[in-house]
Amino acid sequence: KLKRSLSANVRLSFEEKRRKIENIVRPFILSDDDYHKIMDKMLDNFNKGLGKETHPKARVKMFQTYKGDFLALDLGGTNFRVLLVSLDGKELFDHIAECIFKFMKDHNLIDKVLPLGFTFSFPCRQAGLDKAILTSWTKGFKCEGVEGNDIVQLLHEAIERRGDIKVNCMAVINDTVGALMSCAHSDNLCAIGLILGTGTNACYIERLENVGLWDGDWDEPQQVIINTEWGAFGDDGALNFIMTEYDQKVDKRSINPGKQVYEKMISGMYMGEIVRLVLVKLVKHGLLFGGRGSEELKQMGRFYTKYVSEIESDVDDHFKNTKQVFEELEIPNHTEEDCRIVQHVCCLISTRAAYLASAGIACLLNKMGRPDVAVAVDGSLYRFHPHFHDLMMERIQQLVNPGITFRLMLSHDGSGKGAALVAAVAHRVAEEKQN
Ligand code: BGC
Ligand code: MG
Repeated sequence: KLKRSLSANVRLSFEEKRRKIENIVRPFILSDDDYHKIMDKMLDNFNKGLGKETHPKARVKMFQTYKGDFLALDLGGTNFRVLLVSLDGKELFDHIAECIFKFMKDHNLIDKVLPLGFTFSFPCRQAGLDKAILTSWTKGFKCEGVEGNDIVQLLHEAIERRGDIKVNCMAVINDTVGALMSCAHSDNLCAIGLILGTGTNACYIERLENVGLWDGDWDEPQQVIINTEWGAFGDDGALNFIMTEYDQKVDKRSINPGKQVYEKMISGMYMGEIVRLVLVKLVKHGLLFGGRGSEELKQMGRFYTKYVSEIESDVDDHFKNTKQVFEELEIPNHTEEDCRIVQHVCCLISTRAAYLASAGIACLLNKMGRPDVAVAVDGSLYRFHPHFHDLMMERIQQLVNPGITFRLMLSHDGSGKGAALVAAVAHRVAEEKQN
């Protein structure tokens, strides 16, 4: 009898605990209505970015990039960032020039004059194929003296300061454009480039008549690639209705509060931190690790986004990766239930990210109205997360208008290769003009 009532007691507290956990994570579960609302607002933002009168105040900038027919350098998220916080703009470009020098030396290229394509994965107002003005740093970069300047000019100046290499930067492109280019090369249905990595962004092929801001030659292309810079979606408050307390904290503690709101809910730079904040809260309420976390877990930024992918890759009850992560975080005691709870939290947060990105892609697909589109995707989050692709396929399918088919294809280092491709073509065109 005693045994029975004891187990009933345990069950009760288990239910109670479960209910409390569900209450804490519920804000990450959005309804179909929410996603449709997000798409409506996003379309509105896209149109404002494209419109002549509305562009100056628009948060989502929809920058035109230059499309012709069409040694790459990739300054993006993961590789350079750590170094950069302590550098100013001049030092940054000196450093890049040094990297180019080392590369050319290692590959016996020092005596060659090389055309260079520069993948610069930050928002730029593009004034020409080889002229791009940085509007603002994102993804944790902050480097004095670069915003408002032409980054190709800064690079050329740094190369001249060295005087030991001959490099001509022919093209600067956004990483989304690189991804699109490298796939469009072999697949002419490819019309969207998507990055899901440290940051997030998408570009797409737009008909010229929809681009109110077009100031180029009207006789030339019929289409132009638009770099949406959708990471800034929500900077006007459009996403406040879905922001959780954890999103707010992540934003407040970031280097660019109030900026890149959509990006902060999706991309790899922030996902681990959102998970960590939830775990800390669960520990605080005695719902995880018996109420005892660790000093490591309390450290901002200590729960890496790669942990999310690793934990969600555990498919059986051994929880091999999950336990490994707990060990790295020096969690003193944990149970199998703790493993399940942490996996659940990771899953909800990465699913929300995948669905939010899906809303963006579906919005673009509906706006473009083409019957069949391939989306070129690059970025560490998409590549390493075990379910991102499938979650997106399923969700986009639900959100696109009838009659639209699409594919998501991995563009492996597409962002870098695309730049090389564009530079090579620009170089050839320049040579042909000379001859
Ligand atoms: C930048 C974009 C870039 C994206 C993905 C964002 O933070 O603003 O230009 O495409 O990250 O790297
Ligand atoms: Mg990159």
